[in-house]
Amino acid sequence: MLNLVLFGPPGAGKGTQAEYLIEAYSLLHLSTGDLLRSEIAAGAKLGLEAKKYMEKGELVPDEVVIGMIKGRLEANQDANGFIFDGFPRTVAQAEALDKLLNENETPISAMLSLEVEKQELINRLLKRGESSGRPDDQNQEVIENRINVYNEKTAPLVDYYASFNKHYGVDGMGSIEEIAGRLKQVVDTL
Ligand code: AMP
Repeated sequence: MLNLVLFGPPGAGKGTQAEYLIEAYSLLHLSTGDLLRSEIAAGAKLGLEAKKYMEKGELVPDEVVIGMIKGRLEANQDANGFIFDGFPRTVAQAEALDKLLNENETPISAMLSLEVEKQELINRLLKRGESSGRPDDQNQEVIENRINVYNEKTAPLVDYYASFNKHYGVDGMGSIEEIAGRLKQVVDTL
């Protein structure tokens, strides 16, 4: 079983690259951002609660996203493997994920960390905001906050996965195809 954490700051291209990896390795895509946006679209209570954090660029509480991931893992026990996109985002989430996966003896195979310069992230997010309709991509202040939250709470996960020899840094600058090629090169060595 191949379980990949696709990692990187907001705008690093995780969603775009996840599409390539899903296809290449027949994996199931679990994006907590997408799951939360579906809850909002459905008008669900969880979505309404999460929206308050998302529109400010803050993290939704750990127990909410961990609960969502737990449900998806349980519902898809026959999957070939998973791509975790936008999750984990805190050390507590990473520990909870390890615990859930260890129960099934299907640990994380690798954390693929897309590395992109800050100005390029802001440019990509503002561009995405023109077409995605995502309010959190349309406001420079919210974008800056998301990057700050990433640096403060999420970036430490590089050390977390590195301590298990599972961290792979990948250059996230260049064309979509170039970056997909780099990711594939790493996954093929696993
Ligand atoms: P994303 O689509 O991954 O950029 O996520 C959009 C927003 O959803 C984030 O800015 C957070 O407010 C929230 N979110 C998504 N995934 C998580 C997570 N793993 N932990 C906490 N909040 C999350």
